[in-house]
Amino acid sequence: MAFELPKLPYAYDALEPHFDARTMEIHHTKHHNGYTNNLNNALAGTPGEGKKIEEILGSISSYSTAVRNNAGGYYNHCLFWEVLTPNGGGEPSTQTNIRKAIDRDFGSFANFKDEFTKAAMTRFGSGWAWLCTDANDKLFITSSANQDNPLMDIADQKGTPVLGLDVWEHAYYLHYQNRRNEFVEAFWNVVNWTEVTQRYNDANAGAMK
Ligand code: MN
Repeated sequence: MAFELPKLPYAYDALEPHFDARTMEIHHTKHHNGYTNNLNNALAGTPGEGKKIEEILGSISSYSTAVRNNAGGYYNHCLFWEVLTPNGGGEPSTQTNIRKAIDRDFGSFANFKDEFTKAAMTRFGSGWAWLCTDANDKLFITSSANQDNPLMDIADQKGTPVLGLDVWEHAYYLHYQNRRNEFVEAFWNVVNWTEVTQRYNDANAGAMK
């Protein structure tokens, strides 16, 4: 089964004014679509064909650079669309597991936001900022270059991403030009904390098995 470009769970203009419709449409139909097609082409006729994306990422060091770039690009954008919502923003309730873990591991929600923002702002060039949970159910923030991610066996710090922010210029340049800081600030208004909580719960349920 070849990988398929997922549909967005909302309209292209649904995240306005924070993320503009034109950027969202190009990002999905051109960039994410390109990674998906290039991944399928790079895997065609190789032993990786038909494997699950998580399995490919977990042993990415044994694949070509084309697979590394496009498997990352495919997975990262699938996650990105899901952790955004027009009904987002705010803070996860103090009753949720993710909020309890944020307060435990970063001291407060405000500290978490500062650290994540710093990771997004200091990633030089193209890449991603991540909130991840590790094998001991501890949260950490990291960033990665290009389309790498913390599921890859080559990652400096390995874990399961529960929130990711694309800081490639293609994610913001049309609307924010060079002002990555304004894009990162806008991101907090569209974070889908329900989805992030679900991903955190799923990752930890898996880790405990
Ligand atoms: Mn992107």
